Amino acid sequence: MGDYSDSDEETPEWCSCEECEDMQAPEENLCCHNHNCMLKNMNYYSVDCITSHPAFKTVVLDPFVLETAYYSYRKSKYRRGKLSTGELRNYRLYRYTAYRQLTRWCWGMLGNNNRVELPACAITVIRNTFHSGYSRY
Ligand SMILES: [Zn+2]
Ligand SMILES: [Zn+2]
Repeated sequence: MGDYSDSDEETPEWCSCEECEDMQAPEENLCCHNHNCMLKNMNYYSVDCITSHPAFKTVVLDPFVLETAYYSYRKSKYRRGKLSTGELRNYRLYRYTAYRQLTRWCWGMLGNNNRVELPACAITVIRNTFHSGYSRY
């Protein structure tokens, strides 16, 4: 890896999709190319990054989808009990649900203990979309 990242100097060594940035924690320095299930989705649509996949925008970034999905996560075993309905306006809720959506899209249902590290490119896009000033109301 890193051998063919010749076009973008700003892309870190460990990234192959050209969209990742260095994360605060070294263990978060993961590229979407590190996940076979993401590679499979990307190959299917011939895109280089999971964030360029057409489903990413719909499944992970669409606020209406996230609001709907939120309720299913609330009812599921992922429920933490710290999010309430009023927080639907909170950008953190969208991030939380977006991470869940991405995980479910790529890995399907996971057991409680099977947490996966999401790639930096996806985390960055989700953070930039649902920032503290975010509101669709
Ligand atoms: Zn990458
Ligand atoms: Zn990527």
